Amino acid sequence: MPTNVIAVANQKGGVGKTTTSINLAASLASQGKRVLLVDLDPQANATSGLGVEKREGGSVYEALVGDALLSDQIVRTAYENLSIIPGEVNLCGAEIDLPRMEDCLHRLQRALHSVRMANVYDIILIDCPPSLGSLTLNAFVATDSLVVPIQCEYYALEGISMVQRLIDQVRNSGDNPDLHITGIVMTMYDGRTRLSQQVLDEVREHFAETIFGTTIPRATRLAEAPSHGQPALAYDPDGLGTAAYDVLAAELIQRLDGVTAASVAEDSTPNNVVDATALQNLDLVQNQA
Ligand code: ATP
Ligand code: MG
Repeated sequence: MPTNVIAVANQKGGVGKTTTSINLAASLASQGKRVLLVDLDPQANATSGLGVEKREGGSVYEALVGDALLSDQIVRTAYENLSIIPGEVNLCGAEIDLPRMEDCLHRLQRALHSVRMANVYDIILIDCPPSLGSLTLNAFVATDSLVVPIQCEYYALEGISMVQRLIDQVRNSGDNPDLHITGIVMTMYDGRTRLSQQVLDEVREHFAETIFGTTIPRATRLAEAPSHGQPALAYDPDGLGTAAYDVLAAELIQRLDGVTAASVAEDSTPNNVVDATALQNLDLVQNQA
C-alpha cells in the first residue's frame, strides 16, 4: 500500500475531528497499519489525547515556515505502529506567517514529501484545526483525501457545504486537482433522540455514497479517554465507541484498498463505494448506537 494521506477536517468546531483522528489512528495501528498522526491544531488536543508531551519547537511549524525536516519532529507513541508529530501553540503563528510566504499553500505538501517517499507509513492522518485558514488550506493541498466528521445535530449540512466549497476551490485552482472526500463520518449519534436519526437520514440522503456505514455513538468514555492521555482502545477496550472506531478503521482500509485496486486496474472511476453491511460488527454498532 503506498502512503495515503488523509486529513480529518471540518471547519466547524467540536464536531469530533480530534476524537476521530486519535481513535481512527489507534484502531488503524492496531489493525497493522503503520500510522503517523500529524497534529495540525495549535490546541494540540490530539497530542495530549495520546499522552504525548507538547514541546516548543516540536511541531510541523518549523518545517512549514523554515527548513526544519519534518521527519525530525516525529515522536513514537506508547502504541505499536503509531507515531505522531505533536501540535503546540506556536502553530497559531503559522496562520499569520504563512500567507506572507512564497508558495504558502504548498508548504505542508513539500514538508511531507520526504516522509511520504520514505514509505515507512501506510497512512498519514492530519488532525485539522476548526477553521478554513492557512493551516487547513495547507492540509487540503497536502492530502490525498478527506475524512469529514459531522456531528448529528442541526446545521450539520451547512458544515459540509463549506468543506465542499473549499475542495472545489483547491481542485479548480490546480493546487490539488484530485482532492476528494473518502468518507463522511457521523459522530455523537444518540439513539434516544429523534434529532440524531433525522440528521443521519438527511446526510445519508444527500451523501449516500460518501457516508461511512459506521456511525460513532455518543459515548462518555470517548470523551473521558483524552484526559487519561489514552485512545479509547486502551482506556475502554470493550466500549461501544471503541468498537465503532474499530469498524470505521476497517471500513476506511477497505475504501483505500478499493481505490488502490481501481487505479491499478486503470479504472478511471474511483471505486470507493463500500458495501458496509458486509463488515463484521457493523450492524451491532449501529443498532446499539
Ligand atoms: P475542535 O474543532 O475544537 O478541534 P473537534 O472537532 O476536534 O473540536 P473533538 O475535540 O473531537 O472535536 O470533540 C469535541 C468534544 O466532544 C470533546 O469534548 C470530545 O470529548 C467530545 N466528543 C467527541 N466525540 C464524542 C463522542 N462520540 N461521544 C461523546 N463525546 C464526544
Ligand atoms: Mg480538534
